[in-house]
Amino acid sequence: MKVKIKKWTGVGTWSYKVDYDNCGICRQPFHGCCPYCKWPGETCPVVWGQCTHCFHIHCMAKWLKAQEPREQCPLCRQKWRYA
Ligand SMILES: [Zn+2]
Ligand SMILES: [Zn+2]
Ligand SMILES: [Zn+2]
Repeated sequence: MKVKIKKWTGVGTWSYKVDYDNCGICRQPFHGCCPYCKWPGETCPVVWGQCTHCFHIHCMAKWLKAQEPREQCPLCRQKWRYA
């Protein structure tokens, strides 16, 4: 599986790319980290799907594992593919 991670260096860079700023899985804001990241400040990258939804990579990994073998986007239920 090829996973492409888009990293945003500047805070606020993503804000005009998405019309929401919370992870659809854990509901934590993207400028923070997901609940699985124990240490504040740890990098918690955001992954994008072809359906244009995005999530913390850790939330998505956990979600996809639970969805196997039919991985779908938690928000729109389309087949999940990394963008
Ligand atoms: Zn999350
Ligand atoms: Zn995380
Ligand atoms: Zn989606």
